[in-house]
Amino acid sequence: MSRILDGAAVGRQIKSEVAARVADLRQRGIQPGLAAVLVGEHPASAVYVKNKVQACAELGIYSRRVDLPATITTPELLDQIRLLNGDEAIDGILVQLPLPQQVESRVILNAVDPQKDVDGFHPENVGRLCANSPGLRPCTPVGIMELLKRERIEVRGREAVVVGRSDIVGKPLALLLLHQSATVTICHSRTVDLPAVCRRADLLFAAMGKAGFVTADFVKPGAVLVDVGINRVTDAGQAEQFFGGTPRMEDFRAKGAILIGDVHPRAHSVASAYTPVPGGVGPLTIAMLMANTLQAAVARRGLN
Ligand code: NDP
Repeated sequence: MSRILDGAAVGRQIKSEVAARVADLRQRGIQPGLAAVLVGEHPASAVYVKNKVQACAELGIYSRRVDLPATITTPELLDQIRLLNGDEAIDGILVQLPLPQQVESRVILNAVDPQKDVDGFHPENVGRLCANSPGLRPCTPVGIMELLKRERIEVRGREAVVVGRSDIVGKPLALLLLHQSATVTICHSRTVDLPAVCRRADLLFAAMGKAGFVTADFVKPGAVLVDVGINRVTDAGQAEQFFGGTPRMEDFRAKGAILIGDVHPRAHSVASAYTPVPGGVGPLTIAMLMANTLQAAVARRGLN
């Protein structure tokens, strides 16, 4: 029987620890603050920003949502970032991606004060991650490491395979695993014989954005499966292929859509433990954003 790694429960635990520390700081007259910059009307982005602002409210963190028009130019957005960099009430700045096409995303992300870079995307923080020196780390990968730690899953000396090499998930996750002495392989769309490489993994991480792509034949029996993917399926045939004969088909019929990770549900039984979708990696990302905001607030004031 494979064990479910309950990211939602671990996310709640992390948030309650952050809330306790925030309450302590507020007693001393310090309130951590997060600014969420949302450009344009991207519906998914609006939901993400709403959830982040709501999490701040639950934890006693000050938040400010900065809504900007979809027509904004790179220099105009840079001005907004500079204002937030100099704003004493703000400890963390998150720029919700994707930005509109006319905006140079890299220029914007590089303009965020590295001390306020709670997404960990600034080159200074990327360098710190590479060098394994203290700094702000990207929320999803660091959340996954926190889950492994709290679920007492050994990383040291084990074969870890990460499928996906994005700057947001795959690459930083691989570095964090390496720093904890896993033997790490990074796969991508040009990897030859992906299932064979994945079958080497004691710890298999799927971060590719392909619904149910990782099937049982990718998984070494007893491996730990961490599914980062979030894919929305609206096609009944596809939903049937993934969830046929399970109660989740009822969910699909009721809502006309269903979320699935990059791992096929039938691969779960081969693993010793796995993260579900939803309720696995997703809740950890937002919890770590809160933890990063707290970390930034503390570091900026020279507290510990
Ligand atoms: P990207 O699209 O930036 O990267 C996807 C990666 O997967 C690329 O490196 C790509 O390879 C690789 N890939 C794609 N297809 C294949 C394939 N057939 N075989 C092997 N590798 C492949 O995605 P992100 O890293 O931003 O996100 C990945 C997934 O995680 C998405 O579903 C996203 O929604 C989800 N996500 C979830 C979060 C959460 O909180 N749970 C947070 C962030 C993302 P190549 O580089 O060669 O193109």
